[in-house]
Amino acid sequence: MELLEKRIQEDGVVKEGNVLKVDSFLNHQIDIGLMNEIGKEFKRIFADTEVTKILTIEASGIAIAAIVAQYFDVPVVFAKKSQSINLDGSVYSTRIESFTHKRVYDVIVSRKYLSSEDKVLVVDDFLANGCAVDGLIDLINESGATLQGVGIIIEKGFQDGGKRLRERGIRVESLAIVDEMDHKTGRIVFRH
Ligand code: 5GP
Repeated sequence: MELLEKRIQEDGVVKEGNVLKVDSFLNHQIDIGLMNEIGKEFKRIFADTEVTKILTIEASGIAIAAIVAQYFDVPVVFAKKSQSINLDGSVYSTRIESFTHKRVYDVIVSRKYLSSEDKVLVVDDFLANGCAVDGLIDLINESGATLQGVGIIIEKGFQDGGKRLRERGIRVESLAIVDEMDHKTGRIVFRH
């Protein structure tokens, strides 16, 4: 998506440790005009796909998924990071290792909000090693819902999450794929 790539080139900051900071339009301040274009683009890409729920993970995924969901006219469910694992059986749960925070979270979704009837589109801001998406897919599988695809705003193509998911036959659509980035020069190279 050209508009997005241009914005990443202009405002993205490459940090040490393979982290791309996009705080000025995605992860801290949010550019709503750009998010609307992203929502329209996901709707165009997944136009032939039935979707009943959009699933993401807190925190940064929520705002993005909420805007995207307007174009699909379906609810957003976000997996919550939980301090204590709930043992009363009212939730689906899994563990996710955070790339940016380098720690493991238990994440949950209430059984009330995901069922075997649902056709789910997973949406997230970044795809790196794929742990976050793997965890969301675990929750979908536990619920018996159908995974229809994964929509990612920025995929870091030099990390293997996208490759692994596609090798499993999962439809992954990323609006921008960064193949190379260098924190010393600030250079960012996109895949086309
Ligand atoms: P993964 O689980 O695929 O390794 O990492 C994806 C998650 O980590 C995303 O939900 C995102 O919040 C965070 N993340 C991974 N890489 C980056 C990055 O380069 N920049 C930012 N801002 N977040 C990232």
